[in-house]
Amino acid sequence: MAELNEILGNERIKEHFITAVHHKKISHAYIMEGDKGSGKKMLAEAFSKILQCEGRETTGLVESCGKCESCIQMEHHDHPDVIWVSHEKPNVISVGEIREQIVNTVEIMPYKGPYKIYIVDEAEKMNAAAQNAILKTIEEPPEYAVIFLLTTNRGAFLDTILSRCILLATRPVPGTAVEKYLVEKCSVSKEEAEFAAGFSLGNIGKAEAIVSSEEFQDLKELTLSILRYIHEIESYEIADKVKEYKKYKNRIEDFFDIFLMWFRDIMLLKADNSVNAEAAKKKIIFKNEYAYLKKQVDKLDLEAIDYVIGKIHRARVRIKSNVNFDATLELLIVEARREF
Ligand SMILES: [Zn+2]
Repeated sequence: MAELNEILGNERIKEHFITAVHHKKISHAYIMEGDKGSGKKMLAEAFSKILQCEGRETTGLVESCGKCESCIQMEHHDHPDVIWVSHEKPNVISVGEIREQIVNTVEIMPYKGPYKIYIVDEAEKMNAAAQNAILKTIEEPPEYAVIFLLTTNRGAFLDTILSRCILLATRPVPGTAVEKYLVEKCSVSKEEAEFAAGFSLGNIGKAEAIVSSEEFQDLKELTLSILRYIHEIESYEIADKVKEYKKYKNRIEDFFDIFLMWFRDIMLLKADNSVNAEAAKKKIIFKNEYAYLKKQVDKLDLEAIDYVIGKIHRARVRIKSNVNFDATLELLIVEARREF
């Protein structure tokens, strides 16, 4: 696991944690909000490691020693006083689970560390009853308790929870830092790193997942094979292509992202007045597709590009609400083609 000072970006959150430790003002409840892959778990874990470190008293530093028993247990993800709250059903964290794993155990003193830390990932999945149950603990926590609620959407929480937690939101990491990280840690080419950094919009977890996934590369190729000729694609071709997406049903968000980035690139090139192609390429994500993009730029006006981007968002929502998969993809491609 990464140490707090090794984590890229999110300086404000790191600073917040360091100041809290320095002044011994640790809050009992934190909400950490950010997209999947934006570093919430890593930050919560690194902070927990510092809080629990036994060697810190002697070093006096605001960082974990990496050598004490507590640090080693953190490394192995089996620290008895850092509890990851689990849930059985994929889309809900029930009141039973919160009671069993937090409310009923929080009064028991930490086993060895100075703190008893609970980390609830995907905390937006707590239903109202579960939130009310955890609220009691947040309102009157024992001195040693620290609760992290990690979430993609703070809007899912009751106001009473929001008002009692310190809210920390993760931010995108600058593209150049993501690139450097990917080249050094994942040994990918500069070109691949550049694409992944741009495509993930500064989300390191996402960028890392992209460069290490063959499936993503295949999905990207398939989608580009549509996008390059979308202005002249025939209806029968659309139906054929859409069938190929069946095996990527679990990654369909990536399909929408690729589609969106393509039209975002067109939009950027439309508004661009760079002196030459090399300068223009610097601004877009699909640099290798510049020639294809450029052809389409001239065929669309800004209003049409805007229209297609709106349709991509709508298709995304439709898929989430279980509208027919093939029909949704097909409709999106047809709607995009119509604008040329
Ligand atoms: Zn330590």
